[in-house]
Amino acid sequence: MPIDATAAYDDGNIFARILRGEIPCNRVFEDAHALAFHDINPQAPHHVLVIPKGRYVSWDDFSARADDAEIAGFVRAVGHVARAAGLVAPGYRLLANVGRDAHQEVPHLHVHIFAGRPLGPMLA
Ligand code: C5P
Repeated sequence: MPIDATAAYDDGNIFARILRGEIPCNRVFEDAHALAFHDINPQAPHHVLVIPKGRYVSWDDFSARADDAEIAGFVRAVGHVARAAGLVAPGYRLLANVGRDAHQEVPHLHVHIFAGRPLGPMLA
């Protein structure tokens, strides 16, 4: 079910539980600002999620409330994860769903990294 991106942050959401170590993930990177792990239901040969460590429902919430250090740290982490996986030369796609019409399912900001095959002009 898509979430309401205007709702308050829910500490029981699955990515909050992954951040607290209550649920395992297939981690590829972690630093002070971000955690990256393989998506459990990959939509491309390489499908990784990058999430901020702070409590943000969506990209909208993050861009409105996060401080500059958090934003810089998160954006750099996304770039690092893609670079470290060797994705720059073949190319990759970033996606952040926000709310109902985008079908955001988990109410903690996550940026998808898709790669590993030609992705076409758009993911509809
Ligand atoms: O952008 P959206 O909210 O739709 O994406 C949520 C993503 O989180 C899905 O791709 C889903 O497979 C992934 N997921 C995951 N591990 C979980 C729960 C969901 O990788 N435990």
